[in-house]
Order: sequence, then structure tokens, then C-alpha cells
Amino acid sequence: MIPSEIIEKKRDGINLNKKEIKWFINSLVNNKIDTSQLSALLMSIYFQGMTDEELFVLVEAMVESGKKFDFNHLDSYIADKHSTGGVGDKISFILAPILSSLGIIVPMIAGGGLAYTGGTIDKLRSIPKLQTSLSIKSFKDQIEAIGCCIASQSSQICPADNTLYRVRDLTGTVPSLPLICSSIMSKKIAEGLNGLVMDIKVGNGTFMKTIEEAKQLAHGLKKIGAAFNIDTDIVYSDMNQPLGKFAGLHCEVLEAIDCLKGNGPKDLIEVSFRLGGKILMQSNTAKDIRSANKLMLDTINNGKAFKKFEEIINAQNGDISYLNSKYIIPKHEITVKSNERGFVSSLETEKIGWSLVEIGCGRKVEKDKLDYSAGIEFIKKIGDKVNKGDTIYRIFGNNLKKLNNAKTILDKTYFLTDVEVLKPKLIINK
Ligand code: URA
Repeated sequence: MIPSEIIEKKRDGINLNKKEIKWFINSLVNNKIDTSQLSALLMSIYFQGMTDEELFVLVEAMVESGKKFDFNHLDSYIADKHSTGGVGDKISFILAPILSSLGIIVPMIAGGGLAYTGGTIDKLRSIPKLQTSLSIKSFKDQIEAIGCCIASQSSQICPADNTLYRVRDLTGTVPSLPLICSSIMSKKIAEGLNGLVMDIKVGNGTFMKTIEEAKQLAHGLKKIGAAFNIDTDIVYSDMNQPLGKFAGLHCEVLEAIDCLKGNGPKDLIEVSFRLGGKILMQSNTAKDIRSANKLMLDTINNGKAFKKFEEIINAQNGDISYLNSKYIIPKHEITVKSNERGFVSSLETEKIGWSLVEIGCGRKVEKDKLDYSAGIEFIKKIGDKVNKGDTIYRIFGNNLKKLNNAKTILDKTYFLTDVEVLKPKLIINK
């Protein structure tokens, strides 16, 4: 087959057949497709979409590109949570240890940053020495030993998504329903899950800007889940402002640790518990949301959730002393104060995400180095009262020039109004 013919077909809106999709993905993981050709096919899919038939074949081809795990012999419910991407979303490394400490097997495969949204793996890599690219054997051994891991795609684990994800991040082809659905579900199917809860973010800081788009995505994810025997629950959560108080890299790990120690911000806990509750009910660990919440609160309060987090980090060779005492200290910070009074009415969250990319929390080109010390603290959020001179946010990192560039972007992201504003609902009931 000839790659350019497949690209031309999709470009012209002609459906691809099973052989063509499988051949393309197989050739991709065998390094027989140029990045330029992959980019062109991705852009064609972005504009032309995919039929259900094409989507299912794409998912199957992506799963077949690597190992599909089977942990059924462990005789526990195997489940995971995944998000469609947002700003300040550190729920994965709060929920993975919480669920694992409650007896759920969590073989989590996550990704790095995508466009302006932060990546679980990039954030975790801020822990010195931590390995996220695990061999098949290490992944299996770790699940069998401690019941949880948080790993990235690699040349052995979801290799097709590994390449597609990296190229989509750099080519403006992330917000495509078939590409998001196949990326997420191929990883979840490879994990060998019984159950999944999807956090579909909705708002100006994520790919699904409206609830209608989010519902379409949910439909695609559920369809694939059903076809591959994964009980898939959906939660729609608000992403019209960053989640929690921090967005960045190491600062998000520290905020997640605060949650695991019982000191996390309310919004982060609320969304984490709603997602965790779905898995605890799916698995019959809890009979309703109240008992699920109690279980999650207890495992935090009795220290088991944080202990599990330490176990995961330790198993992946991370330096756990960083979790308790040593921090990655940024060299510079800029504190931004308000020159007017009022109530925060809205934030331009996508722009905030791009400002995080600017300071080194994401990549503009492949060779960009991340700055693990970098991030933003959001001192005022929607609904908060602001007086003239109050600090509204703080940007920090190692490169002062980049912090100033980010400030220029951020200056246009906070909006105030004279009248009192209600805090937005975090969970969107649809
Ligand atoms: N998370 C993924 O794993 N893939 C996407 O495309 C978006 C969010």
C-alpha cells in the first residue's frame, strides 16, 4: 500500500477500509511512515472525521500495536479513571492511590501534556528519578506486587498512541472526536479493565467547549467501552477555570499530596470523589455515593491513600524524600496584583494553559525541555471578591523572560465585574 493514497482518500472524504487503517498503524509502529505523512493523515481525520466502523478498526489497530494486559487472575476489580484534559487537573494521581488503597487494581496508562492541557506523566516526572516508561514485565510485576501503577505509553505499551499523541500535540490535531476517543480507549483496553470512569471536561479550558460536544464524545467513548466489555461511566465536570489552586508541574504533585493528606482544595476533592464514587459503586465496593465518599475520606484520614502513593512512587524508582520535605524551588516568581476591585467573573482558561506551555510546563516543539519548577498559583478564582492591590495570581519558574511573556498572556485572562458572582457548579448534571 502507498501511504499518500490513504492520506488522499481521507483528505477527500472517502472512508478508509479495515486493511488500510490496520496497514497504516502497523507501518507507523514499524517506523515505515514519515512524521509528515502521519501529520497529514491526522489533519485529514480532523477535518473529515471517521465513521463508527473506521473508529472501531482504528481502536483495534492501536490496541494490537502493543501488549494487552490481563490481570483477571488477581481476582479484584480492575478499573481506571481518565480525563479528556484540562488545566490544573491532577486528579489521576489523587484517585489512583485512593482507589488502590481500597482494593481496586489500577493499571493506569496516562500521557504527557496535549496542546495547552497538562499531562499526568509530565507532572509525575518532576519527582526525581521516577520511571514512567515501564517495560511490560515491570508493569505486570508492579501491578501484581502493589496493585497500581501510573505509566506512560512506550514502544511496548500502546506504541501507536505513543506516536499519535506526540504528533497530535504538536500539529493542532488534538480536538478531534475520533482521535480523542481512540487515544483514550486504546490505552484503557490495553490495561485489561473491567470498569472505567471518564471525566469529560467541559468549558473554555478544554477541547469540548460545550455540553453538546461533550455528549458526543461521551457517546463515542461509551460505544467503544461497550464493544470491548468495559463498564464505562461518564462524569461531566466544569473546566471554565483551573482545577485546584495550582497548575504547572511539580506544584501539582504537591497539591495532590495535600489532597492525599486531607488538606486539598474543596473543588479538587469534590471532582475526585465524584469520579472515585463511580468506580466504587461499579465494583460493588460501595452501595451508594454516601458510603463511597466515606470510604474515600477514611482512606485519606487513616493515611492509607498517601502510603499507597508513596508505594507507587517507590516502586517506580522515584525519590520519595521529595514527597515529604525537599521541593523543587523555582528561581523566579512574579506576583500579580489587581488594579481594580470587584468579583472575578470569568477566566480565559485556554490562554492560561498556553501561558503554562510558555513557561515550560508543556511543549511547543518536540525538543522543548520542561521546567519542573514552573507553574501558576491562582489566588483568586471565579466568584472571589477582589480589592484593589490584592494578589490575584503568582507565576513561578526558572526563566524570568518566559515568566514575563506568560504574564503578558495572563494579563488578558482575568475578568472582574461589579456585582457578586456565584461560584460555578463543578459537576454538570446532564
Ligand atoms: N487524553 C488522552 O489520553 N488522549 C486524548 O486525546 C485526550 C486526553
